[in-house]
Amino acid sequence: MERYHGQLLSEATRRFLERPRRMLIGADWVEAASGETLAVIDPANGEKFATVPAGGAADIDRAVAAARRAFESGDWPKMRPVDRERLLLKFADLVEANAQELAEIESLDNGKPVTMARHVDVALVVDFLRYMAGWATKIEGSTMDVSVPIIRDREFFGFTRREPVGVVGAIIPWNFPLLMAAWKVAPALATGCTMVLKPAEETPLSALRFAELALEAGYPAGVLNVVTGLGHTAGAALASHKGIEKVAFTGSTEIGKLVGKAALDNMTRVSLELGGKSPVIVLDDADVAQAAAGAAQAIFFNQGQVCTAGSRLFVHKSRFDKVVEGLSGIAAGMKLGAGIDPTTQIGPLVSAAQQKRVLGYIQSGFNEGARAATGGAASEGVGFFVKPTVLVDTSDDMKVVREEIFGPVVVAMPYDDLDEVARRANDTPYGLAASIWSNDLSRVHRLIPKIQAGTVWVNCHNILDNAMPFGGFKQSGIGREMGRAVLDLYTESKSVIMAL
Ligand code: NAD
Repeated sequence: MERYHGQLLSEATRRFLERPRRMLIGADWVEAASGETLAVIDPANGEKFATVPAGGAADIDRAVAAARRAFESGDWPKMRPVDRERLLLKFADLVEANAQELAEIESLDNGKPVTMARHVDVALVVDFLRYMAGWATKIEGSTMDVSVPIIRDREFFGFTRREPVGVVGAIIPWNFPLLMAAWKVAPALATGCTMVLKPAEETPLSALRFAELALEAGYPAGVLNVVTGLGHTAGAALASHKGIEKVAFTGSTEIGKLVGKAALDNMTRVSLELGGKSPVIVLDDADVAQAAAGAAQAIFFNQGQVCTAGSRLFVHKSRFDKVVEGLSGIAAGMKLGAGIDPTTQIGPLVSAAQQKRVLGYIQSGFNEGARAATGGAASEGVGFFVKPTVLVDTSDDMKVVREEIFGPVVVAMPYDDLDEVARRANDTPYGLAASIWSNDLSRVHRLIPKIQAGTVWVNCHNILDNAMPFGGFKQSGIGREMGRAVLDLYTESKSVIMAL
């Protein structure tokens, strides 16, 4: 098909969709051992537009074996850091050269606006690959003088080495499929690890194209393997596999706990990037229009399917009505449509199940007495759309206030003073992110240490930088990705003590 939702696809995307999609294990593009496949659904109309192999435990075994071989023998372990850097830069160039195709694939698969996919998702992937390339040559240990109290007549010398952790299993979600793949793949490739990547079953396509580009860049066979498949089969087999040294997981807190337990059973290293219920806190000096626009971006970006989505809006009571009015006006004016249409501002949610889940939350809010200032329903017609929704008249014990909805739904709540808002902002099992909107520097600085969150934004939200560590407090996860911190997740420290 040349056109999707009336939009002409690029020649490259058409070619990708026309050829059979297989998984990458070692140097081979393969079907699942079972021969089974998974349907890939277009969220804008609910129709199947592709299939991928439904990989299972046998395929994970083969992929882990391929990753093990590549980690221990052949060109990869002998590669000098500067050559790993060069390869990663080449990979980044290839991703950049194929940006439009990757963005179109991502948009068709996930539903997200193609302009966002191109200028946010793919752009961040290219930057992150380049950023991590630089670290390949900067992995260092330290030296120290070692002294032993009862052995006075000998001298010792100590140093530490950073070594690649080994074979890494990566399990990622559907909200930023390519970016989440890159957050795992890039540090693994920079540090000299090898990887088995299991993309989310809802959005398996971009990871396959990404792996093709890795091979084209020149990565030896087995360094990166991709197994498409379901979570409770392929994902569970990977998390509990005895042949890997580390699991890197991004997804829900519920599944993260299962993955963490499975990994720790084998003492496999594990990092977890999980859910959130991030507060947006508007102080009484904030500019109303700026706060309303910021709150809209915080929750509606990527249809609200963002782990850091600003899903709880706290506005000082003196500005509450005005900010809610501004936010609702922005929400009501957003253009819903298929992601592949470049004029779309809000695409469909990723799946029928996700739409049902989000609508279920809205209904539970209504049942408990909340009211929609705008939205509050699916849009008519086909596709998994939910109108951008602002809920008011909530109380802090409602499900819509407590649980992660992962859709374009924000609860707006007034507050009286800063101690109160800090307490309510922290009254959640999550601690991924928060934003504070104010130009009163003293009060902002006093609030920052009180907020339990891995990232605090001031007068902005959802801004990421490759050099800034990213991860969660509390049940939002364990470990920090990005920045120098990610090196700790992909390397082991070895202490060496030499008697001289
Ligand atoms: P999910 O936990 O259902 O799935 C994530 C991945 O886990 C998928 O690949 C899935 O196939 C796999 N999986 C499912 N069951 C499994 C099992 N039993 N064993 C092993 N793997 C299994 O999450 P989702 O619905 O795909 O993604 C949404 C969630 O991800 C949200 O909670 C969101 O907040 C979170 N998220 C967090 C971050 C972050 O960096 N903190 C980033 C993006 C998304």
